[in-house]
Amino acid sequence: MGEAQSVSLMADVLTSDQRATLRAFCDTIVPPIDCADDPTGFWARRATDTGVDQYVEGYLATLAADRRADLTMVLDGLAMQDFASAPSDLSREQILTEMNQSSSQAALALEALRSLILLFYYGITDPLTGQNPNWTQLAYPGPLRPPPMTPKELSTIVPNEDLEAQADACVIGSGAGGAVIAAELARRGLSVVVLEAGGYHNEADFAQLELKAYQDLYWRGGPTLSADGNIMLLAGATLGGGTVVNFTNCVRTPDRVRREWANDYHLDGVDGPEFDAHLDAVLARIGATDECSDLNPAQERLVEGCTRLGWKHKRAVRNTDPATYSPDTAGYLSFGDQSGSKRSADKTWLVDALQHGAAILTRTHAQRVLVQNGRAAGVEALYADPTTGKSASITIHAPRVVIAAGALESPALLLRSNIGGPAVGNYLRLHPLPVVTAVHAGDMKNWWGAPHAMICDEFANPDDGYGFLIEGANYAPALAGAATPWTSGRAHKERMADASRGVVTISVLRDRGYGRVAIDPAGEAVITYAITDDLDRKNYCKALDAQLRLGSVTGATAMFAGGAADLPHWRAGDDLEAFSARLHRAPIGPTGLRPFSAHQMGSCRMGPDPWTSVAKPSGELHDTPGVWIGDASAFPTALGVNPMVTIMALARRTATAMAASVHTVDGDAHPVAVC
Ligand SMILES: Cc1cc2nc3c(=O)[nH]c(=O)nc-3n(C[C@H](O)[C@H](O)[C@H](O)COP(=O)(O)OP(=O)(O)OC[C@H]3O[C@@H](n4cnc5c(N)ncnc54)[C@H](O)[C@@H]3O)c2cc1C
Repeated sequence: MGEAQSVSLMADVLTSDQRATLRAFCDTIVPPIDCADDPTGFWARRATDTGVDQYVEGYLATLAADRRADLTMVLDGLAMQDFASAPSDLSREQILTEMNQSSSQAALALEALRSLILLFYYGITDPLTGQNPNWTQLAYPGPLRPPPMTPKELSTIVPNEDLEAQADACVIGSGAGGAVIAAELARRGLSVVVLEAGGYHNEADFAQLELKAYQDLYWRGGPTLSADGNIMLLAGATLGGGTVVNFTNCVRTPDRVRREWANDYHLDGVDGPEFDAHLDAVLARIGATDECSDLNPAQERLVEGCTRLGWKHKRAVRNTDPATYSPDTAGYLSFGDQSGSKRSADKTWLVDALQHGAAILTRTHAQRVLVQNGRAAGVEALYADPTTGKSASITIHAPRVVIAAGALESPALLLRSNIGGPAVGNYLRLHPLPVVTAVHAGDMKNWWGAPHAMICDEFANPDDGYGFLIEGANYAPALAGAATPWTSGRAHKERMADASRGVVTISVLRDRGYGRVAIDPAGEAVITYAITDDLDRKNYCKALDAQLRLGSVTGATAMFAGGAADLPHWRAGDDLEAFSARLHRAPIGPTGLRPFSAHQMGSCRMGPDPWTSVAKPSGELHDTPGVWIGDASAFPTALGVNPMVTIMALARRTATAMAASVHTVDGDAHPVAVC
C-alpha cells in the first residue's frame, strides 16, 4: 500500500534468499488448509498460488530505497532463522510471533508486509476475467459490468512544453475545498487556474476494481499507514479529490462546532445565518437528497440494533442524482461511481469553474508557492503524466494562491515554500475510525446500496462535545483482508470466509488530540498520529463498545475489531464484557487496534493567533497575504461528522472573503494569460 505507482510483476529487487523467505512468509500468512468441503479451492489455496509474492516484490520495487530497506530487513531477519525451511506452519508462526515481540520497528515492518500480502491476495484479479479466485467464497461479485464509454465532460490543459501563465488566482487541489473556491472566484469574474496532482478519471475509467481504484484515484496508491504505523490513511487524489471516492454522506456542520469556531477561533458568522446560507447553497449545488439511501441487509441490521437499543438514528442524505442512481452499483462508490449519479466536485463545482473561464491542469503537482515582497506571487509546479511519460515545468503567476491540497499535503506544500508560520502541520485531526465486524446469518449484500445509508447519532453530542457517529462501511475485499486481524493463517481464512455475512461498522470519532504533518528531506509529507489524549482513548473504547452492542443485540454469531495480530475474537456464548475489556487493554497502533482515517483536517488551521494557527479567521495566511487556505486543513478543530459539506461551505465563505479583497490587490479581474 502507499506510493501510487503501478506494480510491475517483472521487478527484481530481492536477493534469492530474500525471495525464498518472502515466498515462505506469504504462504504462512495464507497457507493451504485441509477442508473436505472446498468447492472453490478457497481453503486449499496458498498465497503464492496467485503470485502474491511477485506483486509484493513488484511493490517493493516502487519504494524509495530506505523504505524498501525497512521491509527487506525483516526478510533478512527471518532468513537468519531459516524461516523458509522451518518444519511447519506452526513453527513459522512461532518465529513471526517472536519477531513481532522483538522490537517495535520489527513489528511495524512485519505488519506492513502482512497487510500488503493480504491486500494483494484478496484484491488482485485475473486480467482476463477481472475476478479474484477468492471472491466466490466471499460472495463478492466483483465488477458488475465494464465501464461505460462516457465522454469526459471537463476540458483540461495538457502542456506540450514548459508553461508560464498569469491569472488572478491559482487554486492548488481540486477536491471538496479547491473546486468550490475555483467555481466561486471564476463566477465572480476572476481568472482562475486549478492545479491538480492527480489525473482526470470519469465513469469510463471506473472498472469497479478495488486495487485499480486505489492506484488511479487515491493518495499514495491506496490505504497508507502513517509513518508511525498507528493509523491507516485514505484520501482521494484525482480531479475532484476525495469527492470522487467518498461515500457521499452529507452532514451539516454541528451547531456546537459552529459556536466553538466562532467564539474560540473568531470565525465570524460561522455560527449564524450567513454560514447557513453557505451550507444551503452547497447542499443545493451537490444535489443532497435522502431519496437514494437504500438499506442493504447489513444496514438493516444497524437500524434494527438502534431501534432495539432505543438509539437515535436517521437516513443518510447523499449527494446523488436520483435520476441515474441505482443501488445495484452504489456499493462500488469508493472505486469511482460508474453510474455517474454521484454529484462529486468534477460533476458540479469544476463544471461551474470551467463555464466561467477557469483553466484546469491535471497531473500537475504544486511544488512551491512563489512569494514576492512578502506576498503571494504564484506557484511553481511540475506536470508529469506517467501514461505518456511527458513532463513540463509549470509556473503560474498569480496574486492569490489557494492551498487546497488536502490536510495531508497542504502543510507539506507550505513547509516546502517556507511560509505559514510555526503552526503549519500541527493540529492534524483524523477522526480515527474504530472498525468492528459482526458476523450474522446470511448474506449481508454489502456490495449493494451505498456504504452510508443510515447514521446512528446517539453519541454525537455529549456534554463535553466530543462524541461519535456510527456508520456502515463499503465492501472492499482487499482492504478487509488487510484490516482483519491475523492471528494464524487458519484463523484469518476463517474470518474472511465469513466476510459476506459481516456487518462492518465504523465510528466517526471527534478527536481532541492531534497529530502532525512534517516533511522529509525530499519535501514529502510525513504523517504521525498517536491517540494519547485520555478523552480520545476513552471515546475510542466507548465507540467500540457501542459497535459491539449493535452486533450483539442483532444476533451476531461472532465479532472482532479491526487491527493487527493478537486481537481477540468473540463468538456467541463468550462473555461480551470480558471481550470488550480485552480490547480496551489493547494498544492502538501497529501491534493492536488499528483505526482508519478517511477524514483529515486542521493541519493549516484558521484562528486569531499566528503561533497556534496558520491562517486568519478569513482564511488568508497570517504571514503571507494573498495565500489562502481552502480545504479541510483550515478547520480549527475536528468536526465530529463527515466533513465534505462543511469543507465546501467553509471554502465558499473563504471565496467570499477573497472576492471582497480583490480591489485591494490589483483592481479588476483579468483573463488567464499565457506568458
Ligand atoms: C473512502 C472515503 C470515503 C469518504 N466518505 C465521506 C462521506 O461519505 N462524507 C463526507 O462528508 N466525507 C467523506 N470523506 C471525506 C471527504 O471526501 C474529504 O474530507 C474531502 O474530500 C477533503 O476535501 P479537501 O478539499 O480537504 O481535500 P481533497 O478532496 O482530498 O482534495 C485535495 C486534492 O489536492 C490534490 N493535491 C495534493 N497535493 C497536491 C499538490 N501538491 N499539487 C496539486 N494538487 C495536489 C490531491 O490529489 C487531491 O485531489 C471520505 C473520504 C474517503 C477517502
